[in-house]
Amino acid sequence: MNSTYPALLGGTAVRTKAFAPYNTIGEAEKKAAMRVLDRGSLSDFYGSPSDRFYGGIEVRGLEEAWKERFGIAHAVSMNSATSALYAAIGALGLGAGDEVIVSPYTMSASATCPLIYGALPVFADIDPQTFGLDPLSVKKSITARTKAIVVVNIFGLPAALDPILALAREHGLKVIEDCAQSPGALYRGQESGSLGDIGVYSLNCHKTIQCGEGGIAVTKDADLAYRLQLIRNHAENIVADTAWEPKQWNNLVGFNYRLTELQAAIATEQLKKLDELNAQRVERVAELNAGLAKFSAITPPFVPEDRSHVYYIHCSRYDAKKAGLSRARFLEALKAEGIVFGGGYVRPLYHLPLFRKRLGFGNDGYPFSLRPQNEPQDYNTALCPVTEKMHFEELLTNTLIYSPLSKTDMMDVINGIEKVLTHSKDLQKA
Ligand SMILES: *Cc1c(COP(=O)(O)O)cnc(C)c1O
Repeated sequence: MNSTYPALLGGTAVRTKAFAPYNTIGEAEKKAAMRVLDRGSLSDFYGSPSDRFYGGIEVRGLEEAWKERFGIAHAVSMNSATSALYAAIGALGLGAGDEVIVSPYTMSASATCPLIYGALPVFADIDPQTFGLDPLSVKKSITARTKAIVVVNIFGLPAALDPILALAREHGLKVIEDCAQSPGALYRGQESGSLGDIGVYSLNCHKTIQCGEGGIAVTKDADLAYRLQLIRNHAENIVADTAWEPKQWNNLVGFNYRLTELQAAIATEQLKKLDELNAQRVERVAELNAGLAKFSAITPPFVPEDRSHVYYIHCSRYDAKKAGLSRARFLEALKAEGIVFGGGYVRPLYHLPLFRKRLGFGNDGYPFSLRPQNEPQDYNTALCPVTEKMHFEELLTNTLIYSPLSKTDMMDVINGIEKVLTHSKDLQKA
């Protein structure tokens, strides 16, 4: 009796043992790290016009392996996906006052990256089923100043790339694909990241494959690849030498976005595991979704037929009316069962003080200060109604789908949800 009653109301929790932690690092990564340590050179980059401008043997090895795995002509490693997004904005030649259409429902860097070049993020709304940018909302957001779109393949599912790419072609816009959460996900048979002008991946410690911190930018375009390499590594020093002249000179103030040999060696091993790690997530989600099918209050992730999902996060929709239980109370009761889900993902980014108060850089709010208060947007809290509804009312985010979690773990999650929903009346009352 006690074990069938909600833990929040005095019953026994479904889960008393913690879920195994997320850890993708094994013997292969240890060996790779030792190989670098034995060599004694932890980074082989020079910020000068020389062979070593392109980095050491591990960095180049990772880039070669990345190109091969994703079938793309150029891969440029960086020390984070944030750096890669910044470099992408710079490489595409964006500047002060340009507008970039972004999603409000993503990790902040995918929306803030234009600011460092003085360009202004313009938020379009998301699609309520895929949570990626809604092409209709993107279309409405295009102005004479729009120069680019950052499309995020959020939670592991590619956004509606073809309609967005068609809009970009029609209006002469550049497209950056943020694939930090979707390495290996396919859109109409093509790798996410390979469809836009530049694709960006993350290798930070939370991502499906990781080396602590790291990122990769990919492109089909040789000039763009060179500009990415220049921005990564002290561009201004390099192009001073005539043999290293770029085709386009703007934005070539370089940073140090270089990945170390140690990280590159580990990332190369991680890349070999990507397909297996993705397959395990897909398997866990299939088990989970099968169990969730009996609850009318929960709609599991929707995957359009023309794309694949690699489930960085399992994101379902909750119907409080059908459940007879508020989302907050549902989450609280589930947590008491030893299972932690999130209510929504990140708060819609235009809620951040950076946007609401138009803070930007310096003391006068650059680059927002380039435009009147209500332009290009007033960043009010009702800017994107679908995002608001998803975040504050419907979404349940679940990260408990990673390796080494098992089918038994998924059964516990399902049993926890079942227990909570079966006792929704008692829980809502209490
Ligand atoms: C993680 C993440 C980033 C940033 O990655 P870092 O490597 O930590 O800079 C960017 N965009 C999305 C969608 C992410 O999930």
